Amino acid sequence: MAAIAVRNLSKEYAGGVRALDGLDLEVADGEFFALLGPSGCGKTTLLRTIAGLEIPTSGTVSLGERDVTRLPPGRRDVAMVFQDYALFPHMDVADNIAYPLRIQRVGRQDRRGRAAEVAAGLGLRDLLARRPAQLSGGQQQRVALARAIAAHPAVFLFDEPLSNLDARLRLEARSFLKRLQRDLGVTTVFVTHDQAEALALADRIAVMSAGRITQIGTPRTVFQRPATPFVASFIGSTPMNLLPAVLSGDRLTAAGTAFPAPPGVSGEAEVQYGVRPEYLDFSAEPLPEAFEGEVAVVEHLGTSDLVTLAVPGTPGVRVVVPEGVDPAPGTRAWARPHPARGLVYESGTLL
Ligand code: ATP
Repeated sequence: MAAIAVRNLSKEYAGGVRALDGLDLEVADGEFFALLGPSGCGKTTLLRTIAGLEIPTSGTVSLGERDVTRLPPGRRDVAMVFQDYALFPHMDVADNIAYPLRIQRVGRQDRRGRAAEVAAGLGLRDLLARRPAQLSGGQQQRVALARAIAAHPAVFLFDEPLSNLDARLRLEARSFLKRLQRDLGVTTVFVTHDQAEALALADRIAVMSAGRITQIGTPRTVFQRPATPFVASFIGSTPMNLLPAVLSGDRLTAAGTAFPAPPGVSGEAEVQYGVRPEYLDFSAEPLPEAFEGEVAVVEHLGTSDLVTLAVPGTPGVRVVVPEGVDPAPGTRAWARPHPARGLVYESGTLL
């Protein structure tokens, strides 16, 4: 039994905006599930619909065995943490954390006790008497999480809860969230537009586009075998190369260069060839079965450089080059794709 099942869900806002378009989704019990996609693709709308904060135009939402489509948020046994934390400014930390217990009519003494316990687990014990305005962004975030945890929900819904943190705090909070979710085993749906965060945290990822799910899979599958060129271009810290190509037998030709197709791929078709910048060998000397071009841009990534070769007939071929090679802009260079790492799309479908 799925912890969350969404069937044929559509949401049309006033003005005709179709934020969700016949979407299906199942999240397993205890799973950490990420919704990933570009701005405006419907992630927040989906999360709010699961929470009960939006009523779908059609379709159903089930939590466990219950169809909750018509239930108000308070009766769904979910806790949602928003981007802006939505803490009550006039309440101190202890009351903020205990708030859902007050709604559940837990007695005052028990409430304070449980809030203090959760706060201690999150390193907030010394802050219980403060107001939200007297806390840092990271502390506010932990208070919002503590409030969600104190509610003992069946499901956590997080909407970019790390988006207000600086890079270092964000990394810390990320591993904290991962540990917390594993320890509590609570089914969690997490919205982000940061693909690195989704890859790092999630058991599975759904990549969304225009109100639909384009691909669902483990981080490894979505990264290694993106189902469409859209997913391929969206996932990965350096965008994948996508080049027009011709497949002929088990050979590909792109930008005038012929090279082996990935294992198991053959046919006769006009295709798109995808290869990550990490999966090309760079050389300042001629290489067989390699793209040849001029070094146009060199971007320093830290332990490596991202080099863009100007290759006629392509938008440019990006290749990750180990540090120390130091390619000089304006010089000629070669980039040979690893045959097994290439992806071939025919009419937008992975072959
Ligand atoms: P972001 O990453 O920018 O937060 P998102 O993927 O979460 O985006 P949603 O907030 O779900 O996207 O919005 C999906 C679409 O619905 C967008 O086109 C948005 O403009 C529209 N939308 C969202 N809320 C409303 C609303 N209350 N009224 C009308 N249109 C809305």
